[in-house]
Amino acid sequence: MSGLADLHSHSTFSDGRLTPTQLIDLAHGNGVRVMALTDHDTVDGLPEALEAAGRYSDLTLIPGIEMSTDVPGNEVHILGHFIDRHDKAFLRRLEKFQESRRGRAQQMVEKLVQLGKPVTWERVQHFAGEGAVGRPHIALALVEAGHVASVNEAFHLYLSRTGPAYAERDRLNPDEVIELLRSVGGLATLAHPRELRAAGGLEDLLTGLKRAGLTGMEVYYQDYTPDEVEFFRRLAEKFDLLPLGGSDYHGLGNPQQREPGDIPLPMEPVERLVAIAREGGVLPRAQGPHAR
Ligand SMILES: [Zn+2]
Ligand SMILES: [Zn+2]
Repeated sequence: MSGLADLHSHSTFSDGRLTPTQLIDLAHGNGVRVMALTDHDTVDGLPEALEAAGRYSDLTLIPGIEMSTDVPGNEVHILGHFIDRHDKAFLRRLEKFQESRRGRAQQMVEKLVQLGKPVTWERVQHFAGEGAVGRPHIALALVEAGHVASVNEAFHLYLSRTGPAYAERDRLNPDEVIELLRSVGGLATLAHPRELRAAGGLEDLLTGLKRAGLTGMEVYYQDYTPDEVEFFRRLAEKFDLLPLGGSDYHGLGNPQQREPGDIPLPMEPVERLVAIAREGGVLPRAQGPHAR
């Protein structure tokens, strides 16, 4: 494989600003040749993404997902690549997560009303569009209502984990999610470990995740410095994890944003990920990694 790889991106089916087709076109234009769509807790954008990718003979689209889990005091995001998006039990689990997301978002809207910073559920849903409703959509409604100047300010003043309008999610532990992903042929990767490193205890976490079947860790991500990349690369090596990564592109225009392909992820570990998927029977050997 040649060209660039990007294994982490979001579309309008979760909290991204581009449709899967727009995202694929942007990525391909940037030289990305192996791409994963990893919307939060949903696979609903994958049919459109696969169709859009199918227009390019030199682009491989890996079906993916990103799932939020909790450990004491922190959130841990797990990416699943090569998941079977048709598995019925898996789809039912995702539907339950989405219901709980909606309930949580409604709680946050109620808290904002009580705080004297009202936004309407209709506007929040409008911003979510096709996607799973989440804090970014509430933030956009707060901006629109004139209560804050920016999405960042909305998080800073109200919606962060310690903010007055924050509501807890149903807690899922990362081991459980890795097991769920593996049950549908997915290979699990720990996403954006910088905050986990800062909080301490990352090695203990990795020991547990590795035991649960973790395959990779994001080493190349957004604005990670060369020193950070080197730190996480060594850590991945220590735990025998593939050093993967992606732009986590949402199209929201924040300062740390990188476009699809604009991260120094080497193709070699991506090829190893594809090879593991193929050996695990996730992909038919003859067909290559399109996984249609
Ligand atoms: Zn994430
Ligand atoms: Zn993400």
